[in-house]
Amino acid sequence: MSSPFQVHFLGCGAALPTTHRAPTAQYIVCNNRHLLIDCGEGTQMQMRKYGVHFQKITTIFISHLHGDHYFGLVGLLSTMNLLGRTSGLTVYGPPLLEEILRLQFESGNSKFTFNMQFVPLEMKDKTLVLEDRLMKVFAFPLKHRVKTFGFIIEEKKDELRINKLAVERDQISVDHLKILKKGLDVELLNGDILSYLDYTLPSKSILSYAYCSDTAPFAKLPEYIKGSTALYHEATFIEEHIDRAKTTQHSTAKQAAKIALEAEVKQLYLGHFSSRYTSLELHLTEASEVFPSVCLVEDGMQITIKA
Ligand SMILES: [Zn+2]
Repeated sequence: MSSPFQVHFLGCGAALPTTHRAPTAQYIVCNNRHLLIDCGEGTQMQMRKYGVHFQKITTIFISHLHGDHYFGLVGLLSTMNLLGRTSGLTVYGPPLLEEILRLQFESGNSKFTFNMQFVPLEMKDKTLVLEDRLMKVFAFPLKHRVKTFGFIIEEKKDELRINKLAVERDQISVDHLKILKKGLDVELLNGDILSYLDYTLPSKSILSYAYCSDTAPFAKLPEYIKGSTALYHEATFIEEHIDRAKTTQHSTAKQAAKIALEAEVKQLYLGHFSSRYTSLELHLTEASEVFPSVCLVEDGMQITIKA
C-alpha cells in the first residue's frame, strides 16, 4: 500500500545557519519513493535528529549552488558510503555540481560502495526529468543570481478505482477487471461490451508539491506551478526589506503569497527566512493578507499533502 505523500522540513533557514534554523533541506515521500530536495550544511545531522532513514533516499535534487542549499551533500554521500550503502543513487543538479563532487571525493581517494548517477539540470522551460510508474518530477528555471531550478513532485495514478458493488453484482473476472481498471472497455465473445465506466470510479485527484527556492518573482512562475496542491516558496524577507529582496533576487512573504494566489495552489508553505528576523509574525501577516491558506514552516515540521 502506498504511504501518504509527506514532506519533512529539515532546514528552513536562509544563508546563515542559526541554532534553531538549519539551511534548506526537505525529505519527501511520495508513493513510497524517498527523495531529498537540497542538502544544506548539517542535513545529515538534521536527519538523525528527526529520525529520517537516509539510506532509503534514491534521488537527490539540488536547486542551485549557493552553499546553504548543498554544502551538506558531500558529507551525506560520504556517510552513506561509510555505512556500506549498495543501492544506487541519482543526483540532479546544475552541471558544475558533478565536477565539485568528483574533486571532493577524488582528493580524499574515496571509493564508493554504491553507484551514483549524476543528471545535469540545464532546462530553460518546465521539463519532465523523472517518471516512473507512481511518480513524476518536473524541473523548471527560477530567477536567482546563479542558475537555479524549482521542482514539482507529482504522484501518479495509473489505474482507476474499482466499483466493488458493480464488479461483484456482475461477477467480473480478474482478467477483465485488469483491462477495465486501465480505462479500457472489454468485448466479450458474444459481442457484448463491458464498459469501464460501469465498473470503475474516477481516480482520486492527483496530488502535487511544488518547491520554489531561491527566486525573485517572475511572470512565468505561476504558470509553471499552476494548480499544485501545495507550494513551498521562499520568503527570505518582509516588505520592509523589499529592496534587499530585489538586489539578492529573493522574495518577500507577500510576493510569495501573490505567486500562490496566481498559481491557484491549495496551500502555501513559507520558509528560507533570513537570520535577521527573530520574529516571523510579519511574514505571516503580510502573506495571509494576500493568500490566507499559508503556513510558516520550521525545522522538523512534517506535513501530509492532501486534496
Ligand atoms: Zn541562493
